[in-house]
Amino acid sequence: MHELGLCEGIVEAALKRAGDRRVRAVRVRVTGHPVDPAVIEQGFRMAAAGTLAADASVELVQELAEVRCRACGTEGRADGALGLTACAHCGALDVEATGEEEAFLESITVDEPAGTGG
Ligand SMILES: [Zn+2]
Repeated sequence: MHELGLCEGIVEAALKRAGDRRVRAVRVRVTGHPVDPAVIEQGFRMAAAGTLAADASVELVQELAEVRCRACGTEGRADGALGLTACAHCGALDVEATGEEEAFLESITVDEPAGTGG
């Protein structure tokens, strides 16, 4: 895996979107392989240290991987017909992930600009 490089990209994207506002929270969507939220958060902390996103909370949205059983050919989402490690249909352990593995910044929450003059 390459969580730190991935987190650097996410921090960069968040800062670009935030402009000069402080980033309060980021939502990251991950598809393909399940990741440990703690690892992503830790990577984010390292990448965001000293930036306007340093205090942002990280919310991880995981999309289920698409998987296919090589033994019987059954395809599905990882928590539907198939698990990531064993086929729920035939029980074979020869299951491969077919979906694209990626992570990207879905949305950010920033500080409201001070004094909007309302
Ligand atoms: Zn199977």
